[in-house]
Amino acid sequence: KSGFVSIVGRPNVGKSTLMNNVVGEKIAIMSDKPQTTRNTIQAVYTDEEAQVVFLDTPGIHKPKNKLGEFMVKSATDAFKNVDLVLFVVDESKKIGPGDRKIIDDLKNVKTPVVLVLNKIDQLNEEELFDLMKMYNAEGIFEQIVPISALKGRNINELLKVIKKHL
Ligand code: GDP
Ligand code: MG
Repeated sequence: KSGFVSIVGRPNVGKSTLMNNVVGEKIAIMSDKPQTTRNTIQAVYTDEEAQVVFLDTPGIHKPKNKLGEFMVKSATDAFKNVDLVLFVVDESKKIGPGDRKIIDDLKNVKTPVVLVLNKIDQLNEEELFDLMKMYNAEGIFEQIVPISALKGRNINELLKVIKKHL
């Protein structure tokens, strides 16, 4: 099995941390500053069952200039021509305008989307349950997978879900 998986989401939700955790190398540039990842970065994950090319996209945000426009365009291109989109969100309790825009964009693509709820190390069980319910109500996600990219929690489960879609 093999395929392409793009990782999308607004800046700072942990996309690069996730890709680095999965691929096990410091390929994507990580930083506390949003928009450090200026262009799409690819990394290949291989095991006995599958080969997955991950595309770590620049954060999607409202463009303020030409560079910003370019970054947003290459991020929204990442919705198409891939086998699966991983939409990464963090532990924020409400769907903000940044995530809302991405969800609206995702409604217009045929590619299956898995919601990756990252930073669960910052949540208690009840908060996690409420967030899963909130995102489930959007009705566009194949599955919701809670993880901590930083602590490496539930990454194997996410890999299983990814392989199912290849
Ligand atoms: P990106 O802009 O979406 O690529 O986000 P980064 O991967 O650069 O991560 C942004 C910040 O969130 C960094 O300070 C990371 O260390 C932090 N971060 C990423 N994943 C987690 C996580 O699972 N838990 C916590 N607490 N912090 C995380
Ligand atoms: Mg990044």
